[in-house]
Amino acid sequence: MTSVTLRYFCYGCLVTSATWSFLLFLYFSMGAEPDRGRIPVRQRGQPITEGVADRRGGRRPLLPSKGVELSPEMGMIFNEADQEVRDSGYHRHAFNVLISNRLGFHRQLPETRDAQCREKSYPVALPSASVVICFFNEALSALLRTVHSVLDRTPAYLLHEIILVDDHSELEELKDELDRYVRAELQGKVQLVRNQRREGLIRGRMIGASHATGEVLVFLDSHCEVNQAWLQPLLAPIQKDHRTVVCPVIDIISADTLAYSPSPIVRGGFNWGLHFKWDPVPPSELSGPEGASGPIRSPTMAGGLFAMNRKYFNELGQYDAGMDIWGGENLEISFRIWMCGGQLFIIPCSRVGHIFRKRRPYGSPGGHDTMAHNSLRLAHVWMDGYKEQYLSLRPELRNRSYGDIGERVALRKRLQCHSFRWYLDTVYPEMQTAANGNKQQPLFINKGLKRPKVLQRGRLRNLAIRRCLVAQGRASQKGGAVVLRPCDPRDPDQDWAYDEEGQLILAGLLCLDVSEVRTFDPPRLMKCHGSGGSQQWSLGKSNRIYQVSVGQCLAAVSQPIGQKGYVSMAICDGSQTQQWQLEA
Ligand code: UDP
Ligand code: MN
Repeated sequence: MTSVTLRYFCYGCLVTSATWSFLLFLYFSMGAEPDRGRIPVRQRGQPITEGVADRRGGRRPLLPSKGVELSPEMGMIFNEADQEVRDSGYHRHAFNVLISNRLGFHRQLPETRDAQCREKSYPVALPSASVVICFFNEALSALLRTVHSVLDRTPAYLLHEIILVDDHSELEELKDELDRYVRAELQGKVQLVRNQRREGLIRGRMIGASHATGEVLVFLDSHCEVNQAWLQPLLAPIQKDHRTVVCPVIDIISADTLAYSPSPIVRGGFNWGLHFKWDPVPPSELSGPEGASGPIRSPTMAGGLFAMNRKYFNELGQYDAGMDIWGGENLEISFRIWMCGGQLFIIPCSRVGHIFRKRRPYGSPGGHDTMAHNSLRLAHVWMDGYKEQYLSLRPELRNRSYGDIGERVALRKRLQCHSFRWYLDTVYPEMQTAANGNKQQPLFINKGLKRPKVLQRGRLRNLAIRRCLVAQGRASQKGGAVVLRPCDPRDPDQDWAYDEEGQLILAGLLCLDVSEVRTFDPPRLMKCHGSGGSQQWSLGKSNRIYQVSVGQCLAAVSQPIGQKGYVSMAICDGSQTQQWQLEA
């Protein structure tokens, strides 16, 4: 449990009038057209710091280095157009585009670094950075928030340029509208390169790097937000040793609520299925003079976010251009760095948020499994006899062709790289010793073991129907629906607990949960997962029960008469069917 989650929760439960005025302001200043939340109307040539024109001809200031503050109410659906933005956004991008659009391009982020980080100082003279961002069909607001977060939080003299590589996207909003925005608003720091065909992120990054002229390459995904003083801690170790490659800590931006929260300090590993995983940091890595805020040696990188000296990137063989679309390139470059004389660190004082989606919203052109193709290439080039470990888990891949790897084998020879055995012994001994070394760990261990505190408990009575919310079947049945029945204070199966994480827990067992994609499905009882989103509710203003990630309210169904007793999710309208009382 982190202070950030707590803080976020409190905004959820206490909807202040300030939040409401802000929302109304947001609503009117963006307009109610279906495309609202797109690039705000701005007078041509107006410098970014001077603000934007609103619909009524007034001006409101933009706060480039601070920006707006996320509130749970930003997910609220006011009308069908909002619903459409949200639903099509989930379909196309697998995250809440409605909130992303409302957040705009500049927002405040919580401090997630250790206190020690704020006391560190870095040389003023550091190498300059070229930030390379590849994108394919990215939501425009997420892409531009990524770009602006870099512009807002990087000292101009260290930022050589930002190179955007459009990997042959199909979305209309990424065509002329983006061209115009880059030309008019991004003041020459941003270069937009368009691929003539879909290349995938691996060749896409190589194309981006080939346009770069800064000393250091920094790769980011197109749905990131860099945090305070993120770049200096990455550049300093590269300046000291040009063969040092560094990754920031990847903070979590929730795909459903866009809430930004800190990641625990973990480091990169992998399993014999050649999937990346997060490992706990061995205590020996934390025992240096800088303790938990010093660089942490990491056997692998997650892939999306890292910084590397540009000449070294080229010397070390960039990426394997025979790899397609997505996958495997992160392990390939990690093995190559360590085996060929470099080193790889995670830098806890550099924080960059990334939207973690539950699925990747795109496929590969021929529908191929590019992860398997790419993993085969990396196994055959880098893993020596250990490739058997992979192939024995994936016997169907033994006879699959993986293209010509001649050049990569020659590269390995030319660079006089160590054996894979050396890498395992020296860099990742945990792989062999831990009996459960292959067990996939949860991606992020975001929560502590502490149970969230219960804030209120009692029966949930609907004010229109005057009945209480209960499980339709047994209260312990996962996936079960909820309905309204006559209230009974003695019935333990009518006992709801509302806790500090916004969870509504029935009879101490299951959590009230909504589908984030099929938002018109009624809520159900599911195992509590503790990560907000589909189980995050906000109780408060006008007795409503607001679902934070779906942006709708819990309502009793009053029509048709035969349906009486059922509940559903509905656009919040303040009506009596949407009013509830939690009574002890
Ligand atoms: N990307 C790309 N071309 C592709 C696939 C992905 O340019 O064919 C971009 C994508 O838009 C993103 C980055 O590569 O900015 C990493 O992809 P993604 O975020 O989907 O990977 P994940 O974070 O899910 O591992
Ligand atoms: Mn990503």
